[in-house]
Amino acid sequence: MRYLKLAELYESLSSTTKRLEKTDILSKFLKELSESDRDVLYLLLGDIYPEYNEKKIGISNQLVIKAISKATGVNSDKVVSEWKSIGDLGKVAEKLTKNKKQITLQSHILTTEKVLENMRKLPELEGKGTVDKKISLITELLTSASPVESLYIVRTLIGDLRIGIKESTIRDAMLNAFFEGRKEFAEKIQDAINKTNDLAEVFDIVKKRKIGELSKLKVEIGKPIKVMLAQKAKTIKEGFEIVGKPAALEYKYDGFRLLIHKKGNDVALFTRRLENVTKQFPEVVDYIKKYVKGDSFILDSEAVGFDSKTKEYKPFQSISQRIKRKYDIEKIQNELPVELNIFDILFYNGKSLLEESFAKRSKLVREIVKNQPYKIISSKQIITDDEKKAEAFYKQALKDNQEGVMMKNLDAPYDPGKRVGNMIKIKPEERDFDLVITGGEYGTGKRSGWISSFILSCRSGDKFLEIGKVGTGFKEKKDEGVSFEELTEKIKPLITEEKGKEVKIKPKIVVAVTYQEIQKSPTYSSGFALRFPRFTALRPDKPLSEITSLKEVEKDFENQKRNWQYG
Ligand code: AMP
Repeated sequence: MRYLKLAELYESLSSTTKRLEKTDILSKFLKELSESDRDVLYLLLGDIYPEYNEKKIGISNQLVIKAISKATGVNSDKVVSEWKSIGDLGKVAEKLTKNKKQITLQSHILTTEKVLENMRKLPELEGKGTVDKKISLITELLTSASPVESLYIVRTLIGDLRIGIKESTIRDAMLNAFFEGRKEFAEKIQDAINKTNDLAEVFDIVKKRKIGELSKLKVEIGKPIKVMLAQKAKTIKEGFEIVGKPAALEYKYDGFRLLIHKKGNDVALFTRRLENVTKQFPEVVDYIKKYVKGDSFILDSEAVGFDSKTKEYKPFQSISQRIKRKYDIEKIQNELPVELNIFDILFYNGKSLLEESFAKRSKLVREIVKNQPYKIISSKQIITDDEKKAEAFYKQALKDNQEGVMMKNLDAPYDPGKRVGNMIKIKPEERDFDLVITGGEYGTGKRSGWISSFILSCRSGDKFLEIGKVGTGFKEKKDEGVSFEELTEKIKPLITEEKGKEVKIKPKIVVAVTYQEIQKSPTYSSGFALRFPRFTALRPDKPLSEITSLKEVEKDFENQKRNWQYG
């Protein structure tokens, strides 16, 4: 397929902010999309592979600037100054290509296959000469691109497509294109996406209009799947109302979610963001091989850090550094070991268990996991319909330094990627949010050169809305915790606009913050501001789709008001 056709689709998608119109445009496109062009679906989300695949483009602005310069014959400094004045590197490429095209008359036809081919080579490159090879792969694309094509090639490369398309928009467009928008099928398509994390695989089936085939899609060992998500309740009583009686109650451990796949002797570990972290946790691989019975399985668990000397459990932020760690794995493993708390099972010895009841799955967990405290255990659990017993269990969990409890519906299936009422979390009233950094400001005095105040945003549909600024909770020095310096380094490659001391960045870095109060505020686009926000941890394991939503902010704001009145 010609890349121009895709670029034109991007253009018409960005010409409207209305979701329904976007779905309509996309649905027409999907009707005509042939099976051989199915990989274009990845490009629509700014990716080159399905979501479960870890290979992402990962190209810095600097590299793209060099390639634009080579392709257009304009020197890098000029490209940078254009970027500062226009603020969008894609637009810069478009403008400079336009100027060039007036003089040269060459025109190669660029196809989506070629774009994917070159972009897919980028994450493969390693070792000496990598940078030059990357630049020439990009330059090759830009040289044959028309202005509008350069715009979207550049935006794809830097991970900032700006067309306002999410997975759910593509799902709805599939529904409209092939099933006349029949609402009852939406969930079936979504389930298939959650199971496979591969839009093209789902597209192959819906294109043939075979809705029944979708439910036959299987989870596969070794291919990460989205985890089932929890809803919140305030009290045990409310929890029972949602999950029914009797229910299972479990400790809510304060670690990070780990999905464990095993087949024969191979073990793979994935975060809830579908990232493979097997190399970072060699001890976990060991425990799985030694202490869990079965030839093949997928387990759902929480990995919790503890102090190797005192055996005291540690809050998430202390082990978060292990998730991204690429070197000195053994050293950090000895300092910050983890205990695995297994709480669910999705697949066992050749059979998917997604449709089985939680009661059955949970029983199986307890049969196959050999408990070894401080290594691997099945999560602490009671099954009860008695509110008093449940309250006592909750108190005990808090006494044992855990975050709270989970309440689970005993009859419920495992619903990947969904936040339905099968699983409820209850923790003491605490004012904390997971937010994404969308901007910042360089500091002055001893903090000059570092970004020392960060703009935080919550999620609302496809958008991120500002809700406050945070500058406390960070360390001055690198080895004391998360420092300004470290965060500045993380932020620099994500900068999309710079004006004086202020920068805007791509939403990528998720952080946990606490605050004292939510206020209404005209200053920020969410309409709310946090009073006294304080940074507590980086959350590299949380995807953007799971950060605090505007709805949750509104709900907490209302609750806060109620507490003032009656509390
Ligand atoms: P939250 O991250 O606040 O939405 O809380 C839900 C998370 O709690 C899950 O994603 C798990 O990572 C974690 N968790 C801790 N203990 C359990 C448990 N026993 N069952 C399920 N999830 C748990």
